[in-house]
Amino acid sequence: MKKPGEIKGTHQQPPHDGQPPRYFECPNCGFLTASERFGSGAAECPICKAHADGRRTFPNEHLRRLDERIRHYEAAGESEIVVILAETFLEAILEDILDRMLSTRGADVVVREVVLDGQRAIGARIGRIFPQLSGEEFERAASELGYHEFPRRWREVRQARNSFIHDSPFKGSRDTLDAKMAAQAMELLDQAYRLFVSLNNRFVAKSDPASPFSERA
Ligand SMILES: [Zn+2]
Repeated sequence: MKKPGEIKGTHQQPPHDGQPPRYFECPNCGFLTASERFGSGAAECPICKAHADGRRTFPNEHLRRLDERIRHYEAAGESEIVVILAETFLEAILEDILDRMLSTRGADVVVREVVLDGQRAIGARIGRIFPQLSGEEFERAASELGYHEFPRRWREVRQARNSFIHDSPFKGSRDTLDAKMAAQAMELLDQAYRLFVSLNNRFVAKSDPASPFSERA
């Protein structure tokens, strides 16, 4: 499937060693890539020509530890915890990408906090903040990057998590957080890295003509 703006080496293969994926971030434009050559400083950023500083990686340590924990619970067959934590992870990584989009539009940390704290509901973040910042519906952007089913399957995991947490007496007890839903949550977790890195590179990483690294300066 065609992936607009995708640059070779942007993604790793999905992890099989129980370790979360790791991406390197360009300190100048925010471009993310799995390329070890960029991470080690051997290759320049394909967007702005800057070099990695060896410090910035995605996801941050916080999310990396959460991911490790989720994989640990998955190996132990703890489906309920896997779904609940994976949903937490997905919401955190969405917040991260929205924060980056705000930042690239010049919003300082106070503005970013006001915007994100003012809209904590995940549905509104996807349905309102994302399209306002990107000019595109989340579903359409995901589809264009090759993740057509991601938004719908994410919604299913979210609903399963919510009905488990808020066990409604009107709906009856729900035993939806089974091994099947845990497997779906794990697939979304692995896809989320690739999708959100692609969204970052499409909507955040920009060649800045004023940059000393840019050839167009
Ligand atoms: Zn760059």
